Amino acid sequence: MIELAPDVCWPQERQTLNWILFDQGDLLAVADTDRWLWPHEAVCDALGTEPEGLMLGSWQGQPVAVADVRGAQISVQRTSLRRALLASFAEQALLARAAQVLRFDRDHCFCSRCGQKLQQVAHELARQCTDCQLDYYPRIHPCVIMLITDGPLMLLAEGVRFSQPMLSCLAGFVEAGETAEAAVHREVLEEAGVEVRNLRYVASQAWPFPHSLMLGFHAEYDKGILRPDPAELVRAQWVHPQEHHPIAPKGTLARILIDQHCQRVLGN
Ligand SMILES: [Zn+2]
Repeated sequence: MIELAPDVCWPQERQTLNWILFDQGDLLAVADTDRWLWPHEAVCDALGTEPEGLMLGSWQGQPVAVADVRGAQISVQRTSLRRALLASFAEQALLARAAQVLRFDRDHCFCSRCGQKLQQVAHELARQCTDCQLDYYPRIHPCVIMLITDGPLMLLAEGVRFSQPMLSCLAGFVEAGETAEAAVHREVLEEAGVEVRNLRYVASQAWPFPHSLMLGFHAEYDKGILRPDPAELVRAQWVHPQEHHPIAPKGTLARILIDQHCQRVLGN
């Protein structure tokens, strides 16, 4: 079953809608619960009016819209988008789409070529310039993230931009005109000084900070001496699955890649 079916058509019966509510980047939980999907009636009760929002599509067969209700006086639990994504693995695609659709709506008001106003396209999530007809779609930035292994050992690193000390996979943005595979080879060589072989695509993950699509790979070490780039990495090291280090949290693609390898090596 396709869990998330993107669509911009509103349902005929508003009462069937579910809502995801943001307040300046924080998600609002349904009152007295830890769920993010608000029934339409509950939103109207909480706000005292029907919210204005954007249609996301259907999630598990139910229509879902998103609204930013900043300034509304609703006393419910608020959680950062990042924390919600890590806690709600099954709903990651929906929450990521909600955040990216809201950002697209906020950041695409005028044409960057001629400065005229953009108008919503009726049948898809897109805007079009009212003067030069240039089309705009939500931005998606492909990134590669890769677990490099050498036998049982994993090449893990701490990035200079991490908010707390931990080890994770190497990662980087795909450059214009580059394939994802070439980006893996380039990033590993640039950041760690080593070359890899036998690339294998594993999985992907939408990561809305702000527009990333993470493409996860496994690759084997080929040659070269580990030489972390200090502009990108605080440290990089070979780690055995039986060692204990703070690593990327559950819910991240990095952790999925690491856990898969550890299970292969340790057999559990
Ligand atoms: Zn224009």
